[in-house]
Amino acid sequence: MTQLTRAQIEWTLLPPLKDVLPYRFENGASFKGFRAECDSCGQPIELPQVRGRITPLADNRCVVSASGHCVVCNAYCEYHYLLSANGKLSASPLTYWDEHALPPQ
Ligand SMILES: [Zn+2]
Repeated sequence: MTQLTRAQIEWTLLPPLKDVLPYRFENGASFKGFRAECDSCGQPIELPQVRGRITPLADNRCVVSASGHCVVCNAYCEYHYLLSANGKLSASPLTYWDEHALPPQ
């Protein structure tokens, strides 16, 4: 029996991202998803393979926390974005708060 990795278990437990899309902001703007690409092999990851949640924030913003499963190389990639719908819809990547996960300088 193959051992499940932590990323695999976490991915399985998350709801499909498409269930919460399109996401509507308070001002009526909508977010229909993003183009996910595998961190390991660069192949696009289809929306059905992306799971995660969207947490609304005040001021027409939300946090997208998602995990994609690459069917090509079997990698799991995480996506954390802060979306803002004030004016033009913009997304900024969120880095981990865990200082041990910071990339080397
Ligand atoms: Zn891949």
